[in-house]
Amino acid sequence: MEKYWNPEIECMSREDMKKLQDERLVAQVKHVYDNVKYYRDLMDKKGVKPEDIKDTEDLHKLPFLSKADLRDAYPYGLLAKPLSDCVRIHSTSGTTGKRVVAFYTQNDIDMWDNCVARAITAAGGTKDDVCQIAYGFGLFTGGAGLNGGSHKVGCLTVPMSSGNTDRQITFMQDLGATILCCTPSYAAYIGETVHEMGLTPDDLKLKAGIFGAEPWTEEMRRSIEKSLGLKAYDIYGLTETSGPGVAFECSEQTGMHINEDNFIPEIIDPETGEVLPEGEVGELVFTSITKEAFPLLRYRTRDLCVLSRKKCSCGRTLIKMAKPMGRSDDMMIIRGVNVFPSQIETVLIEQGYSPNYIIEVDRVNNSDTLDISVEMNPEQFSDKVKDMQKQERALADAMKLMIGINPKVHLVSPKSITRSEGKAVRVIDKRKLHD
Ligand code: ADP
Ligand code: ZN
Repeated sequence: MEKYWNPEIECMSREDMKKLQDERLVAQVKHVYDNVKYYRDLMDKKGVKPEDIKDTEDLHKLPFLSKADLRDAYPYGLLAKPLSDCVRIHSTSGTTGKRVVAFYTQNDIDMWDNCVARAITAAGGTKDDVCQIAYGFGLFTGGAGLNGGSHKVGCLTVPMSSGNTDRQITFMQDLGATILCCTPSYAAYIGETVHEMGLTPDDLKLKAGIFGAEPWTEEMRRSIEKSLGLKAYDIYGLTETSGPGVAFECSEQTGMHINEDNFIPEIIDPETGEVLPEGEVGELVFTSITKEAFPLLRYRTRDLCVLSRKKCSCGRTLIKMAKPMGRSDDMMIIRGVNVFPSQIETVLIEQGYSPNYIIEVDRVNNSDTLDISVEMNPEQFSDKVKDMQKQERALADAMKLMIGINPKVHLVSPKSITRSEGKAVRVIDKRKLHD
């Protein structure tokens, strides 16, 4: 039986949800226009006044915000409330340049916690659960976000943070953790360590995992589910909109329900900025309609995905987003062909390899090169050079079928690739270093 945290919102009729969004959007645009000079200037430049936004149909008239704007306005330029009303900040991991800082009032934190509580409930979590949080705590939103949601639901919360994997597993066993929350790459690492410690999933009580903060494939999902003996649920979010919990998976697991009462999604053509119809792939854009301190309107996430209003068997009416295929800036253009790391991961796991790999792209004599180092499982290891070359060739052939170009595959010895305890970094694009 499907359980909901906020049934009246999660199963609200389309009309009522639209009415709620319309009202909230109109009020939010006014709040931003009155309090955020940076965005007021953008609106003025575009010739849009708050009165022009009468309902969600007018959303497209508003200017976009991008990461570049957030950097421009750093640190206080997009703040919409006095600092005395703010109770916390969080920050992006800053992998792609200067960190972005987001601010929260107490109401913003409550809204966020409620969104995460919906996710935990959708994964079967109740006050009887023991929820171990192995996302990093600190400026990163993962730890704090899941911690807040877990408290709301009333789970016994174990705020482990990431790392110290042996102790993580010992705690899991001793306390009988039933829900594990962390990045999928860390979940895979924990699963591997469980096995190495001579334990099996039966030695643990885990029933659900809530994994997100980075792209992961269906193949990775199945591999984690097997190694930890749980059902793995996806969760999505970004610091700019609050953190994890913007969208979450239900039991149907065919995409994540977006908490539309707080975030209005749009899909746009990343080149032209034009809004695309439901079902088309494009860049995901969010408008926060309830946030007080850091209310971004039409924020371009750079995440590529698809929206769907198809009826969901869980009973929720919230729109669904597909698993993001990665950020537009994760996409590698190699010899003119678009390649996503997720395509490579799919092939690796399908061929029985571990999700431990490094992708290196470079340019030699004006031609792009693609080298993929893949870790072998101990049973794949052979001391015969010929055997290894055969395996490398077979893997390279399977890759070519998937991505359309021929990579150089290097099988490396077990345990030689560093494991991730947070967001995994798997791509090294040396071409960017040369430029
Ligand atoms: P940073 O941008 O520095 O990584 P964030 O922690 O705010 O900081 O990361 C948010 C981004 O993480 C999203 O825009 C998206 O690209 C990625 N992300 C988060 N959750 C998921 C998920 N479930 N699937 C795929 N990507 C995700
Ligand atoms: Zn559903």
